[in-house]
Amino acid sequence: MIYKPFKDISLSRLGMGNMRLPTIGEGRSAAVDRAQAQKIIDYAISHGINYFDTAYVYHGGDSEKFLGEALKKYPRSSYYIATKYMAMGNPDYKAVFEEQLKRLDTDYIDFYLLHGMFDMSIDTYLNGGCIDYFMEQKTAGRIKYFGFSSHASVEALERVAAFREWDFAQIQLNYLDWIAATAKSQYEILTKHNIPIMVMEPVRGGRLASLSPEADSLLKKAQPEWSVASWAFRWIMRLPNVQVILSGMSNMEQITDNVATFDDGKMLTDAQEKQLMDACELFRSSISVPCTACRYCCDTCPQGLDIPKLMEAYNSFKLNGPMSLGALYALPAGKKPADCIACGVCSEHCPQNIVIPDIMAQLTEAMKNMPKY
Ligand code: SF4
Ligand code: SF4
Repeated sequence: MIYKPFKDISLSRLGMGNMRLPTIGEGRSAAVDRAQAQKIIDYAISHGINYFDTAYVYHGGDSEKFLGEALKKYPRSSYYIATKYMAMGNPDYKAVFEEQLKRLDTDYIDFYLLHGMFDMSIDTYLNGGCIDYFMEQKTAGRIKYFGFSSHASVEALERVAAFREWDFAQIQLNYLDWIAATAKSQYEILTKHNIPIMVMEPVRGGRLASLSPEADSLLKKAQPEWSVASWAFRWIMRLPNVQVILSGMSNMEQITDNVATFDDGKMLTDAQEKQLMDACELFRSSISVPCTACRYCCDTCPQGLDIPKLMEAYNSFKLNGPMSLGALYALPAGKKPADCIACGVCSEHCPQNIVIPDIMAQLTEAMKNMPKY
């Protein structure tokens, strides 16, 4: 295992995420399968992982409870626990913190985070009183390091980062979000404010563990002994302000592969990074439509649909999943994908030969199946 100093301690570069543990039953709140999950924790400890990340809400609260049980047989000073307070889950931060200590069966939390900053929730965290309370707990030694995790926009993240001094922050960071989303800007903001980064979603919930057949074979040819997922970890290792790379490991196969990656600790060379970017482009082109927003198709659409905007939404959906379709519900009546009458006139004008009615049908179907919250 490779390690990196953090203030006066040393953290394993691979951290164990505890939100996707094996469960008994289905669903996000299903109880943790103790026997299977304990094997993963034991493997983690015996192979040098010393950072364990959980949250009040993971597995409906059972993640913290399980972790408290699973780590009990090891000396408390041999590992670090990170857990989080989510204001939207329960506004009583004092009661939540006490409950977390009980669940985790410990007197202190090593790394405590405000959980999941979104643009809409920032003021609740920054001005709701919880920070003062958690700072009192830090002074009392019940919290060692204080930070936050964020899914906020770049603008909102800048506001949070500048609000006060933070010991660390946790963000979603991987090579795909670096290229196709805002991970690079987020990394730069936190680095500018001297805030060390704990990375979540390094393989994007497993999406980067297998790309497309062509992209996978390019990576396999370059480094036959590396898994596709390991390229994602080795890419992140290159970023100097990254402290711990978390992986929510669900089975022995994943942890064995990840530990092997962090045992050799080889980060990508410049040439290998170029190979990864080539594979990423192959992958992206395999799942997206090559719309250039030329708008040649727009004038002849009898429904007056904003076709390039819908093509962009389709590409985002293919990369990011159904939640990225949210903006389509806000389109005016008569301008949604379902309003396409499949006349096909648009495709005759498309220099990229996109079969536009098929894309509209796929979007319509995806919107029908989008989970309702
Ligand atoms: S197929 Fe749909 S999007 Fe294309 S021109 Fe006809 S109505 Fe418009
Ligand atoms: S004509 Fe084709 S490439 Fe141009 S905007 Fe329409 S869908 Fe996109």
